[in-house]
Amino acid sequence: MPFEEIDILIIGAGPSGSSTALHLLSRDPSMRGRIMVVDKKTFPRQKLCGGGLTEDAETILRELGLNIEEIPNVVVGTLYFSTPVNQFEYRSSNSSHTLRVIDRATFDGWLLSKLLAAGVQVRQGVTVTNFQQTATDCLVSTQQGEIKAKVVVLAEGSNGTLSRLAFPGRKPNKARLVEWYTDEKNLTPGQAVFDYSPINKNINGYYWDFPSISGLRAKGFFDSTIGNGSIGSLAALAPNGQVVGGHPILQFTPRHNNQNGRILAVGDCAGADPLLGEGISFALGTGAKAAKHIIKAMQRPNWDLAHYQWTIINSPMGRSLYIRWIIAHILFGLPAPVFQWLIWDVLNKAVIWIARHWVLGWARKKTT
Ligand SMILES: Cc1cc2nc3c(=O)[nH]c(=O)nc-3n(C[C@H](O)[C@H](O)[C@H](O)COP(=O)(O)OP(=O)(O)OC[C@H]3O[C@@H](n4cnc5c(N)ncnc54)[C@H](O)[C@@H]3O)c2cc1C
Repeated sequence: MPFEEIDILIIGAGPSGSSTALHLLSRDPSMRGRIMVVDKKTFPRQKLCGGGLTEDAETILRELGLNIEEIPNVVVGTLYFSTPVNQFEYRSSNSSHTLRVIDRATFDGWLLSKLLAAGVQVRQGVTVTNFQQTATDCLVSTQQGEIKAKVVVLAEGSNGTLSRLAFPGRKPNKARLVEWYTDEKNLTPGQAVFDYSPINKNINGYYWDFPSISGLRAKGFFDSTIGNGSIGSLAALAPNGQVVGGHPILQFTPRHNNQNGRILAVGDCAGADPLLGEGISFALGTGAKAAKHIIKAMQRPNWDLAHYQWTIINSPMGRSLYIRWIIAHILFGLPAPVFQWLIWDVLNKAVIWIARHWVLGWARKKTT
């Protein structure tokens, strides 16, 4: 079996894996020959996703010198919120648009093309099956051979099997999502809907209605599975036969550790947002954090990666995730009409203020 050695092995070439590599390169261009990215799929690969990019995702891309307008996208000015008790609109106060919708296969392929253009070693169609750690290295087994790495970045997404090996004590809390496309023309391409009214039907989440670059509307359900009322089958709520697919996402919890020895988790593997199911900005953001942490660790004699989780939590990104985690528990854990009325109606202005200042816009704030 072939055997290779590399300093930093990134498993998964989705947004979190690509972001880690791109941030390593932007911090130190000499890292080029010291990084390898492997993915079991060949890009562009399909990925079930609403494709909504928030301003935080765009901020991180801009800081990397990447222009999202290079790929097709639809700009959304206003988000319409429906709740069990009222309706309201949300617009960004920092930008002319609030959301940008991309096609995930195109977006992930575009990010990967930036890595390839920079000369990073990318192995597509390579499945990692196992790894073993020593004090100084990690020996990674793939179906094509073995790779010895000083640091392994786990960017395998929500449904991977490797995080169970890397973090054996973890109790994963997974949200469930289903998605489908329709040719309904009830909204303009510049409008997107977050409909929380299904909380009344014991769904611990919401229903989304986004534009897509194909012109069809992308719709779906997000069920956080926080609280007691989770329904048996989300797919049963979608119009007959229209479901494209369903997928779980691993939700952020402050209790998770995302570092074990020489392994760091990024993206969904580290935990996506439990309130909205937003994952792309956090995939890009945790990639940035991991890259900074690795570069710092490389200056120490033993490449000690300790305190990675602390650098995540103690950052504007970590605080946003923490606040989303708290809000999700209140919102989905208290479905009774009186609590929903209190949250959405009585506290409406406070909810919008928190969304503006604590939930979104974290990528613009600098880590203290
Ligand atoms: C239905 C749905 C809708 C969503 N909508 C949105 C949205 O509108 N906006 C938003 O921000 N987020 C959304 N998300 C969440 C978003 O898709 C994820 O948070 C995001 O994909 C996480 O990126 P990642 O890089 O961590 O993982 P992924 O994108 O899942 O990438 C992981 C990669 O690892 C590879 N891999 C896995 N195992 C191995 C292995 N053993 N060896 C080698 N390679 C491996 C996979 O092939 C894959 O390419 C949605 C999710 C779902 C399910």
